[in-house]
Amino acid sequence: MFSIERYVTLAGILPFVKGPTGVYDTSDMPGSITFFTGPMACGKTLELVRHLQIHSEQRIPTICLRPATDTRSEKVQSRSGLCYEGLTIPESDLDAIRRVTEEYDVIGIDEVQFFPPGVVPILLDAVRHGKRLLVAGIDTDFRGEAFPITAALLSLPETDVQRTRAVCSVCREHNATRTQRLRNGTPVRRDDPTVVVDDNPSVITYEPRCIEHHVIL
Ligand SMILES: [Zn+2]
Repeated sequence: MFSIERYVTLAGILPFVKGPTGVYDTSDMPGSITFFTGPMACGKTLELVRHLQIHSEQRIPTICLRPATDTRSEKVQSRSGLCYEGLTIPESDLDAIRRVTEEYDVIGIDEVQFFPPGVVPILLDAVRHGKRLLVAGIDTDFRGEAFPITAALLSLPETDVQRTRAVCSVCREHNATRTQRLRNGTPVRRDDPTVVVDDNPSVITYEPRCIEHHVIL
């Protein structure tokens, strides 16, 4: 049902919802989990950063976690250049992840596919406590198979799935649903490791591709 209070909040007219002490208070609100996903280069990190910024601009305690496995940058950075300061965290440090979800109201996670599925119960607890979770990551690996944590997130009834497509590097149609891995320009075999860390970027490259042009040898 339409609610003017909700509308003005969404429109950014009200700076934030104040609790009894004047501090932002989520204790009586249901939490939410939004999952920005799709293949590489579909704009999911751009959406994550945009949502993080509109919350932090209104002084809502906001943080974004990024996995230590991803050594490319210290920031959560979209291809467009828009970026947000991230907290790099070892993916297996579940205690640290839980503490962050307790201390902040809006919690972003970038490159979620690198995290273990054991993070999901922590995220569900946070949703029960009124937290807003903004999660971004690739849905499937180079084989087109779901990462364990993305499979778990997609199967949750609470997850608002924002799935988008990229432009296929072969046919140039806006229909790419998959991420192609190439080694020296050639598609890799199915038995290639799921995650390649610290490999020479000129040897391993990735491209968004549609199902017709996605190749596994
Ligand atoms: Zn194509």
